[in-house]
Amino acid sequence: MKHYQVRMSGGRIGEGFNGRPPAFEPIALSTNGSTTTSQTGLSCPWPAPSTRVLVGWIDRLVGGGLNADRRGCPHLKDQLHQLLTRPVDTVVCTLLDESPEAPMNSALAHHDPAKLLAGIWLLGELTGAKNRWIVAEGGTPFRWLAEVREGAAQLKLRMIWLRNDYPQSDPSVLLHTLLNRKLRPKRLPTEQGVLLLDAAAAIDIGQIALCNKPVERTPLAFRDHTAGVSRFVTVPTGMKISEALAAAGVATEGKELRQGDLLRDLRIDGNATAGSGELVVHVNPREPARSPDSCVRCGWCVEGCPTRIQPAGLLEAAQRRNPDLADHYGLDSCIECGICTYVCPSHLPILDGIRQIRQQSDELNKQLSGTVEKTG
Ligand code: SF4
Ligand code: SF4
Repeated sequence: MKHYQVRMSGGRIGEGFNGRPPAFEPIALSTNGSTTTSQTGLSCPWPAPSTRVLVGWIDRLVGGGLNADRRGCPHLKDQLHQLLTRPVDTVVCTLLDESPEAPMNSALAHHDPAKLLAGIWLLGELTGAKNRWIVAEGGTPFRWLAEVREGAAQLKLRMIWLRNDYPQSDPSVLLHTLLNRKLRPKRLPTEQGVLLLDAAAAIDIGQIALCNKPVERTPLAFRDHTAGVSRFVTVPTGMKISEALAAAGVATEGKELRQGDLLRDLRIDGNATAGSGELVVHVNPREPARSPDSCVRCGWCVEGCPTRIQPAGLLEAAQRRNPDLADHYGLDSCIECGICTYVCPSHLPILDGIRQIRQQSDELNKQLSGTVEKTG
């Protein structure tokens, strides 16, 4: 896969923060008393791994409120349960952020290094994985991750520094870069022998393990594109995003909300709740609808596509409502990064088309498997 360099702000981590990692402001309700510990000389008294121990820990973590499902940490509960039948050789905690103007993972790792390291160490012991890696962006300011580096060395966790051009943090791209393994979009990394989680999930695991406290709060970063500022907060898990934005003083009237990276165009409304999606929320002025022009066959979408498929062909398949044609053009490999839509000079809604044809294809496959089950 090639790396297509798209940075929405054109910046690197640390720019715009005066070199200091952003602090998190607690919002509403009382905190659960969790504290940031800074000890890196961890001594973890957990027993050697076995399936019985793993089952017990999965129950404990899930019972403690661990419930992450984000781009950098897909279906964590399902990944954990799959460990019971499918061993992994690698645990990866990614600190890569999709939005440099809201570097959530790097900021969390700076503020809670002990829990982060404990979470990764525990998963490494439970799985018996030979590779225990923390993947960070090469350009992260040194002091942000100083304690993580030190603790990682003590716990024999390897730090891997990557250039983080979008969409490097996508699980499929990341596993290909790190291990040359092919992870199909929307499949679990554990199917490729990797347990993948992000900083927030590792810290949640560390909190349950070290402090024996359930996860009751969620970190969020709000990027206000009108004001050009990012606000980092922690809120009670389950709080409405609209309430959290209001409490943080971010104006939303006449604005659109998107979660994750902007290019993915994942729109949410204010009723979405903290903890149920991505940890970065972008607040943008509402854009006027743009009429697309015809495809001029420039090939920019093909050139920009990190998985080297045929975006224009996928749009054509969507317009014809033809899943077979979409398969032919590589639908199965699309990671929905949105680069094709971003570069298209005709403003064609390629990503929307891809999502529509994917949904149609999924429904068709479900119907087919239902028919096979019945006739079988
Ligand atoms: S969204 Fe577009 S650029 Fe990204 S993988 Fe899919 S087809 Fe390629
Ligand atoms: S970038 Fe847009 S105009 Fe160019 S080939 Fe792709 S779909 Fe057509």
